[in-house]
Amino acid sequence: MSSNRKPSIAYFSMEIGLVNEIPTYAGGLGILAGDTVKTAADLGMPLVAITLLYKKGYFRQEITEDGGQLEHPVEWRPEDFMRRLPNKVRVPIEGRKVVVGAWRYDAQSMTGRGVPVLFLDTDLEENQPKDRELTAVLYGGDAAYRFKQEVILGMGGYRMLRDLGMEIRRYHMNEGHASLLTLELLRRHKRPLELVWDEEKVWDADAVRNYCVFTTHTPEAVGHERFDYGLVMRVLGDATLLKVLKDLAGEDRLNMTLLALNLSHYVNGVAKRHGEVSKQMYPGYEFNAITNGVHSFTWTCPSFRRLYDRYLPGWANEPELFVRVDHIPKDEIWAAHMEAKLALLDEIRRRENVQLDPQVLTIGFARRATAYKRADMIFQDLERLIAIARKRKIQLVYAGKAHPQDGPGKKLIEKIFRYHRELRDVPSIVYLQDYDMTLALMLVSGVDLWLSTPLRPREASGTSGMKAAHNGVPNLGILDGWWIEGHIEGVTGWSIGALPQEASLEKCSDQADAEDLYRKLEEVILPLFYDQRGDWIRVMNDAIGKNAYYFNTHRMMRRYATEAYLF
Ligand SMILES: *Cc1c(COP(=O)(O)O)cnc(C)c1O
Repeated sequence: MSSNRKPSIAYFSMEIGLVNEIPTYAGGLGILAGDTVKTAADLGMPLVAITLLYKKGYFRQEITEDGGQLEHPVEWRPEDFMRRLPNKVRVPIEGRKVVVGAWRYDAQSMTGRGVPVLFLDTDLEENQPKDRELTAVLYGGDAAYRFKQEVILGMGGYRMLRDLGMEIRRYHMNEGHASLLTLELLRRHKRPLELVWDEEKVWDADAVRNYCVFTTHTPEAVGHERFDYGLVMRVLGDATLLKVLKDLAGEDRLNMTLLALNLSHYVNGVAKRHGEVSKQMYPGYEFNAITNGVHSFTWTCPSFRRLYDRYLPGWANEPELFVRVDHIPKDEIWAAHMEAKLALLDEIRRRENVQLDPQVLTIGFARRATAYKRADMIFQDLERLIAIARKRKIQLVYAGKAHPQDGPGKKLIEKIFRYHRELRDVPSIVYLQDYDMTLALMLVSGVDLWLSTPLRPREASGTSGMKAAHNGVPNLGILDGWWIEGHIEGVTGWSIGALPQEASLEKCSDQADAEDLYRKLEEVILPLFYDQRGDWIRVMNDAIGKNAYYFNTHRMMRRYATEAYLF
């Protein structure tokens, strides 16, 4: 690590998904954070990341025969991947001084550079048993548990960086979970009372803003947490903060998004449309947009890595080289794809004892199982679906976890299991358990088409479709999030439904969207796949050359560097 510059950018995230064996992520937000860290390492950026340890992870998903989701704690050993640091700091929680320790993981790049990731941990002998549990589970527990975790992340993380002697010039809050770090900055940058004479004027928000960058990740209400001030004061126990919090984070409840918005000099959404939608949610605030990406090397399967190594050497640290994808012979693209497809079908046979047909068009859908993602859209009109699948065969592969408290999300999984039983293989349907990073890579590379059907404008960005594109798998999706920017009809993939004219939160019609999905499948996609393979591979080619070329975290991090970190 000696060749590395000292970190001066601190990236705070409630979840980080770095490698499959470290289960400290739930979904897109965490994967993005992991890809961010890896890219910062590739590019030699002076960044340190901070998150919580979660010894029981998020959960391991088991699905019963009728589609019921069971949640099990994950077992893993931090000491296999990271080392415990001697540093300890304290944070105030309900009048106790809770001790926070840290583990250090080094994300190593193939360029020889690295980025440290600090995993905060309260499971220490000094703490009372209930406080030792505070960093055990990601997104578990009630509002109080969550708020205490955010005290540990924001305030504990800030104090840990100081204890380590890291001089931070930019604090990047990846979602509002981390925004309590601004309280630490406010305290540190107080104006002296003897100069301002007024207790309320000691707080210097301008000084704090200089340090802070905030990225909001979803228009969904769950992403904009609000805590009752009663709870806030019970946990923090510092009445002097109440007035400033009410000024900066909302009069009736502490809104974590608002706190971050008010104390950041740079704020962004994660796709162009999401920037506009966020502006409507928080009028009067300025939102920039930096569209998400994925870490190209991580999200490219072995057969395509070999192909790119051969024809586009250096691609992994310079994904712009995908612009030269036309140098790769078409038959080699197809061969690399079939290798990935056979690997997926093998895995499906191993796990579920189901043999899918490698010659049949296979559609992938793997997402958090939650209502707005509409995993069941393709079943809107069963007769229509059956008629289409009788003419030309289709296979559907699903995966995804529902949040333990998301009842409707769990119902969606049950629904897909019901369709599977009713439809009797026209089309064939498989639901794979325990969606994680390893399975995600197999799926995005091993299917022929990646489907996304969110209710717009609720998909802020979405990233799994970008992973598919890295493996030459075209997208078929609603025009929302990144796909508004990535979609060129018939060139990089296909749309479902119209391009919404404005960023309003208007509802789109399930029925009209499903109708368009059927029409595209029947009239455009299935004939192209089965009858004009050369033209199909042309689309695969453009998914790489036009989508993977742009929707990667190398481009994304260069933009954060020039627009948010340096100025
Ligand atoms: C990429 C990924 C996600 C996010 O996918 P979206 O399309 O953004 O919903 C979630 N979970 C895992 C395991 C992933 O690899």
